[in-house]
Amino acid sequence: MFWRKTAKGPEPTRAVEEPPASSEVSVDDVLDAAADILRALGKHAFTVGEEDKSLIAESFERCAEHVLIAAPLDKRADDKSPPPQTSRREWRRVVRFVADHRKKEQTFVERSTKEAREAIWALVDSVGRACVEHGKADEKLRSQAARLGKAATTESITELKREATEFASSVVQFLEEQNQRLTVETQNLRERLANLETQLDEAKKEGGTDPLTKLANRRVFDATLAQQAALATVTTRPLSLVMIDIDRFKSINDKHGHPAGDLVLREIADCLVRAFPRRTDLVARYGGEELAVVLPDTSPQNARTLAERMVTLIRSREIDVGSAKLKVTVSVGLAVHAAGEAPTDLLERADRRLYAAKEAGRDRIVDCEPAGAPDAASGAKGERLARAS
Ligand code: GH3
Ligand code: MG
Ligand code: MG
Repeated sequence: MFWRKTAKGPEPTRAVEEPPASSEVSVDDVLDAAADILRALGKHAFTVGEEDKSLIAESFERCAEHVLIAAPLDKRADDKSPPPQTSRREWRRVVRFVADHRKKEQTFVERSTKEAREAIWALVDSVGRACVEHGKADEKLRSQAARLGKAATTESITELKREATEFASSVVQFLEEQNQRLTVETQNLRERLANLETQLDEAKKEGGTDPLTKLANRRVFDATLAQQAALATVTTRPLSLVMIDIDRFKSINDKHGHPAGDLVLREIADCLVRAFPRRTDLVARYGGEELAVVLPDTSPQNARTLAERMVTLIRSREIDVGSAKLKVTVSVGLAVHAAGEAPTDLLERADRRLYAAKEAGRDRIVDCEPAGAPDAASGAKGERLARAS
């Protein structure tokens, strides 16, 4: 049955010319309409996977010409030969072509939407993880990611598009804020480093050397450690700290006299200078018979190797104090700076390990947290820092 326009019927939306009202529809009118529909489908075709939209449009055009003038369906686009004189039309092939194409489009759209949803889920997931890793996640970003995730489960593409756009602008805003924060922090850090540089210069000017051992004194040590800790945070290069305490030093004083003790201190200082010859390393007298070495740009493994070399050197040195030839040992605590860590915390950690080395029998290096560290820590911290100051 051909479609027949009635006077009262609803107005169909189409570009083809309307047949005159109340007249019979001719075969030509129907063929024109069918060709127009095919051309409209070709004109608005979109690329489906590997199949380019221009090729699809060509196929529809061939179908339209076949419907109109019985041009061969398999005719190539560049074939300009006149159509054969026949009116036979392969309607089934035309219908199959349209149906197959529509099916391909449907599959393509469904698969693309599924892939887009999966990509959005992956994005929501990675933003969630990044938020957790970042610690103090940006609340707005987090809730927007949750909303986007929810939108990805609904059927509404409009909603999905809106949420994705809002999310994208939030991410941009978040990154800009992060960037600004980082610029301010870098500026602050730069100012702090400049201040520390001045402090270090002043400390050196005011006499930064310990008169007995000729090593750097406590003031220079404190300023250097603060400066290097700030620098290590910016450069992300490892900074190691070695704390050294002479074993049973009091008994040397008691048995051989205070000048003998002084000599031992000078000898140990000499061993340290030899064990840490790098210009950038700072060997200092921390206080009493306690010494410290700041090792910029030194990994835990290298710091351990250097400390072992120092311990061996001290063990092998014979110190002639007149009344006797002494051999002394040291206990060592080793720690590596963690990014952003305060210098006092690094110092406490190294000191805690030094205390652990003493507890374990002296004449050794400890470079990791001793068992039951929290308890030992509070006790060690107070005791060793008090002893050293
Ligand atoms: P430990 O193995 O536990 O470290 O025992 P120690 O005897 O080394 O430690 P203690 O803290 O009991 O004694 C440290 C001594 O070092 C006490 C102090 O008189 C002495 N001392 C500190 N500074 C100097 C100094 O400049 N010269 C001399 N000769 N002795 C010093
Ligand atoms: Mg001691
Ligand atoms: Mg001591």
